[in-house]
Amino acid sequence: MEERQRYRYVGPDEIRDSPAGTVAMDIITTADLRSWMNAQQHDPDEMVTFIVTVAGTLRVAPRRSEHVACARGNDVLAAGEMTFGRSEFGWSVTEVTNQSTGYCADPDCWPAVAAALNRADIGHPGAFTYQVVFRRCPSCNERNIVHEHDFTCALCEQPLPLHWNFPVV
Ligand SMILES: [Zn+2]
Repeated sequence: MEERQRYRYVGPDEIRDSPAGTVAMDIITTADLRSWMNAQQHDPDEMVTFIVTVAGTLRVAPRRSEHVACARGNDVLAAGEMTFGRSEFGWSVTEVTNQSTGYCADPDCWPAVAAALNRADIGHPGAFTYQVVFRRCPSCNERNIVHEHDFTCALCEQPLPLHWNFPVV
């Protein structure tokens, strides 16, 4: 397997250090997904928090969960939110984004998400349905979400780099 980019938690310490209390579950098969949804009384249309572990496994948690709690403080290959749907072909992901201000993973993390879903036999759209572009401000260190190709820091208004620039693991 090719070496994938790992992402380290880049959010505030107080969130990382808060007690987990998150009901997260590794999804190895669609049976895992079904039992997690039943246990959570999860509405299938509702977004869930997800991460992909460094071992390449999909792990989900209720949407209110912090990604770092879902990851138990560890590095990840991907982080974001997704919704699931059921069709005659089985379970599939209907919407998926890399939205996670805790990990700020680049949209380039998609192949790790696809591989984890393929492994669990869960269908997917083949790409993020919504991509979030994260940049760290080199001037003030603020985590930014870039909107409408405006590479300007929302906090200090200094320019943001064109390439993903969080600390690499
Ligand atoms: Zn700034």
